[in-house]
Amino acid sequence: MPAQLDQIIIIDIEATCWEGTPPPHQESEIIEIGICTFDIATAKPLTKDSILVKPERSQVSEFCTQLTTLTQTQVDQGIPFRDACALLKDKYLSHKRVWASYGEYDKNQFQKQCQSRHIPYPFSSNHLNIKTLFAIVQALPKPTGMAGALEILNFPLEGTHHRGGDDAWNIGRIFSHIILTARN
Ligand code: AMP
Ligand code: MG
Repeated sequence: MPAQLDQIIIIDIEATCWEGTPPPHQESEIIEIGICTFDIATAKPLTKDSILVKPERSQVSEFCTQLTTLTQTQVDQGIPFRDACALLKDKYLSHKRVWASYGEYDKNQFQKQCQSRHIPYPFSSNHLNIKTLFAIVQALPKPTGMAGALEILNFPLEGTHHRGGDDAWNIGRIFSHIILTARN
């Protein structure tokens, strides 16, 4: 099926985490899915959204709250991961569009979590890694993190770093710069 080339869906997830390895009987799970829709015609980020997901096999640690600002109370109000995947398809046509993330982490975590829970993978196989693209376009010696990319572009970080919606939006701004530079 050819990809629907009206929008690109930019995804940034947050997951339960700890300073080192997970404690016994816990595993890293998606707790927030940030989504930025990106208009291909104008090469601009369009909308920003955040889906909170209730973890089933782990709890939000103090470390995780410090990193993301997300608390257990907040994610307890989230929806099941299965419903979040269905929402991505229904609302964002995630299975029909090209989608993008900053690095491979978001894709790997989605694949792992869908596989282990027998949940249909909500994305097409058409994935763009904006971290690699940015390093190539800028001729960097090695890929840099999202905050580093914003610094190189002299773009102030908008919103809260390590919140999915804000991260996805900021990645959209980086991607916009890449595309507009290529078109000019
Ligand atoms: P980010 O998109 O950079 O906010 O990171 C996505 C997820 O990666 C976070 O929600 C954490 O689960 C994990 N992560 C990021 N940075 C760290 C860190 N310094 N230590 C442990 N986990 C991290
Ligand atoms: Mg993030």
